[in-house]
Amino acid sequence: MASKENRRNTVSFSTIISLLLIISTVIVFTVLLFLSYESMLAKQMNNGKAEVDSTSYTLCEAINTALLQSNDPSVVNEKDIENIETICHLVSKNFNGSIYLVADDMTIVLSENPDNDLELILQDVIAHNGEVQVTRLTEGKTYITSGYKVEQLNLWCISSSYIDRGLVFTEFRSVILIPAGIAVLFAIVLFVLAIQLTFAPVREMSKTIKKVSEGDYSVRVDKRYTDASDLRSITSAGDIVTMAATLNEMIDKLENSESDRQIFISSIAHDIRTPLTSINGFVTAIMDGTIPPENVDKYLGLIKQEINRIRELVVSMTEASSLSHVDPDVMENFPLNEVITDVVDNLEPQLSEKNITCEVRLSDDPDANMCRGEAQQLCRVIVNIITNAIKFTPDNGKIIVSTVPNKAENRVEISVEDSGIGIPAEKRNRIFESFYKVDSSRTREGFGLGLYICKQILAGHGQTIYVDEGKELGGAKFIFAFPMAPDDKWDIV
Ligand code: ADP
Repeated sequence: MASKENRRNTVSFSTIISLLLIISTVIVFTVLLFLSYESMLAKQMNNGKAEVDSTSYTLCEAINTALLQSNDPSVVNEKDIENIETICHLVSKNFNGSIYLVADDMTIVLSENPDNDLELILQDVIAHNGEVQVTRLTEGKTYITSGYKVEQLNLWCISSSYIDRGLVFTEFRSVILIPAGIAVLFAIVLFVLAIQLTFAPVREMSKTIKKVSEGDYSVRVDKRYTDASDLRSITSAGDIVTMAATLNEMIDKLENSESDRQIFISSIAHDIRTPLTSINGFVTAIMDGTIPPENVDKYLGLIKQEINRIRELVVSMTEASSLSHVDPDVMENFPLNEVITDVVDNLEPQLSEKNITCEVRLSDDPDANMCRGEAQQLCRVIVNIITNAIKFTPDNGKIIVSTVPNKAENRVEISVEDSGIGIPAEKRNRIFESFYKVDSSRTREGFGLGLYICKQILAGHGQTIYVDEGKELGGAKFIFAFPMAPDDKWDIV
């Protein structure tokens, strides 16, 4: 439910962001287009005004000059009228508009290319003493009119042209609107594509997380989104690529811990079921008389052994879960050489049982002797490793225990090598996992927890353990280290 709601929120959030961006882009573009249309119109208007004004002025000047050159400037004769008509005709040829000679009482004395319904406009110009007038008419035309008066004739030389806003818009559409529209469309397509590409890894991650939450640990975020050099990753932010890669690592860990958990549970179940089955069999046989009374004690002994085995398992498991942290209060300095010698001495019965020789090569460097940690637990590590060496070494074999100080790293390195069966290279990392046994058929020999416990104890002391092939004896060689005691803490507690 919650995940569905989250997904819906994410979708609506990204949709709202995309919509807002698209709407604001469209608004900005519309305003820009409107402004450019207005500036186009204003430019045409200014050109028109200049043209109209200069035409009226030219006409007026030409008529004044013609009158001045007349034989009798005080009288307007036919010749003068002819000249004026010619002037009007010539001027109109170079002018894309109408030309009028108008008396004060609005009588049109002469006109070239006259337009309909101009009375109002002419009146307006005359009323404003010939100043340029802009008159907007309903059918989309805007008239520009200007006039200059020929005082001698008491006539207004008026020129007029118009701007057809429809035509301006047609020009605007083909020069600006269509290219801009295509550009905006292209930008929106690119934008949507970019959003899709940017959010693609996020969608992929959310799909993956959903599957993991449903218990499917086999899914991973596609490599295209986690590989920074992939084209799909280049289009998304670097942080998202890192996030996708980290998510995959997290799922890897989850998958591993899930499989560890399953192995852990099935191993416990197996290690408890086996002795329980034996106990059940013995008890049933005792109860139904299959085991004769004289043998009951022997079978009770076996039942006790099996119960002890279950108890050991429970103790080992409890310990294993609490070993990776060492309480500083229980830390102490202890002499390593003595601990090793004691352990080997105590294991003497097992060693002699298999006639195994144990050679102890201890460093005589006093620094390599004094270690610091939880002595009992570290002693247990040595016991476990040497016990394993004895267990996996055939009769008449050999074990070498040696110590070497590593002052640079402030620790003493301990190795236990045996002439036993060794551990195949591919299994050397796995033997430190809980319940892992190289040969699972040897079910009765240990729980597969000994090395796991060693690893936990050493980890609690900031140390590691690994196994290699023993070069001297040919079996397994375990190498681990104990922390060296600092110089000022050499007083044995
Ligand atoms: P176990 O209680 O089964 O011995 P451990 O954790 O101590 O559990 O060891 C895990 C497995 O590692 C053993 O089952 C064995 O297969 C392998 N192993 C440990 N020590 C040695 C060794 N010295 N030589 C060969 N195999 C070993």
